[in-house]
Amino acid sequence: MRYLSTRGGALAESFSDALLMGLAGDGGLFVPETWPKFSQAEIDAFGARPYARSAARVLEAFGAEPSLQALQALCADAYARFTDAAVTPLEPLGPGRWLLNLHGGPTLAFKDIAMQALARLFDAALDARGRKALIVAATSGDTGGAAVEAFRGRANVRIAVVFPEGRISEAQRRFMTTAADDNVLAIAADGDFDACQAMVKQLFADRGFAQRTGLGAVNSINFARIAAQAVYYLVAAARLPAGGPPPVFAVPTGNFGDAFSAFAAGRMGRPMGKVLVATNANDILARALATGSYRRGAALATQSPAMDIQVASNFERLFFECSGRDADLTRDAFENFAARGDLQIAPSMLACARALFSGASVSEAETTRAIRQTWKRHGRLIDPHTAVAVAAASGLPFDADRPLVILATADPAKFPQTIAAACGVTPPVPEAIEALAAAPERMERLPADVGALKARLLSFARG
Ligand SMILES: *Cc1c(COP(=O)(O)O)cnc(C)c1O
Repeated sequence: MRYLSTRGGALAESFSDALLMGLAGDGGLFVPETWPKFSQAEIDAFGARPYARSAARVLEAFGAEPSLQALQALCADAYARFTDAAVTPLEPLGPGRWLLNLHGGPTLAFKDIAMQALARLFDAALDARGRKALIVAATSGDTGGAAVEAFRGRANVRIAVVFPEGRISEAQRRFMTTAADDNVLAIAADGDFDACQAMVKQLFADRGFAQRTGLGAVNSINFARIAAQAVYYLVAAARLPAGGPPPVFAVPTGNFGDAFSAFAAGRMGRPMGKVLVATNANDILARALATGSYRRGAALATQSPAMDIQVASNFERLFFECSGRDADLTRDAFENFAARGDLQIAPSMLACARALFSGASVSEAETTRAIRQTWKRHGRLIDPHTAVAVAAASGLPFDADRPLVILATADPAKFPQTIAAACGVTPPVPEAIEALAAAPERMERLPADVGALKARLLSFARG
């Protein structure tokens, strides 16, 4: 399977090439040349198979290089440490409503699902090519921990995470700083998240540096993450009671990666009801779907920090698809957006986006209320990101008889203060967090200066 850039100026010959490159050379995002399609029988079969087999089947369909048998072993290993044998279990939350629990992995957030598979795919692809890679990720929260946990100890990869010192939670920091493996480097930068991200972008823009270090990316611009996340939509829909109408998914959204994976599941043949794009006060996507104007605002700090994002990178993939895969139009639109901070979506393209997606923005008060009410009515503690989706879904204009699946993206124990403030209950501390408290931390402090970062990463890459 070849991969095209949304901006038309680059090509990846295979899934593994797209995986290792991350961003396309022309600044666009990779998408498969054609969407793989499953038969109805196979769509239905996703409900009964073990999760790892379904994941292997989906990755194979997207052209992942290892054989189906090797992919099954890889996925079985990736998902062996999840707390529930179903990996992404559905939990009833009242009549016709479910929580889709995506936080059963080692760092208690949904990013583990894609990252655990991604790390093993990276290692295998590098092995086949006799190459090494340096993964660098800027993180404001969950991505860094999930990446460290997934890549630690892998033979062909070194992983460096750059986070804003003092601006992430203790649990989030410890997931990055307690790995003892020498292929892990945690960097506390003296700056905010935007400064961290700007530095990492500069690394990728320096072609010489990128080539010398074998630089790779694991944020959701990497198509392999989209592919690995499409699996749980296919599996969840097939696990719902048979014979009902297609489900509505409520998705807490930041970078639009998770939501775009729902689009992928639809393209692969799964009948989908609506996908509700639930945002916090950082509502660029909800505004774009409502008005057709995709316009950057100032990023606001909220109780759901993993969604405090004003530019939803994966939106470019939807734009490309809804333009009829017009790469020239997409390139102009997003180059303009980078310069001016807004773009207009033509009515026909907006209609295409609205055929699947509907947006809702949720206030801080509504998020707090959703945490409290879910606790009162169901005795279930939910994290603030999940609460954004719960709140958005409570205002749904959709058919009441459609099954509603709300994505639960983090364990509430990652945000104990927010939960306690909302409903007076402190979530129990899971073993995964308890174990971190005693482990020694390892991190290096650097100024928010790309020169200093490059020098440190060059010596780290040499090992
Ligand atoms: C990353 C994250 C999200 C947002 O996912 P996107 O793919 O960026 O839309 C939601 N909830 C949690 C807990 C996250 O870590």
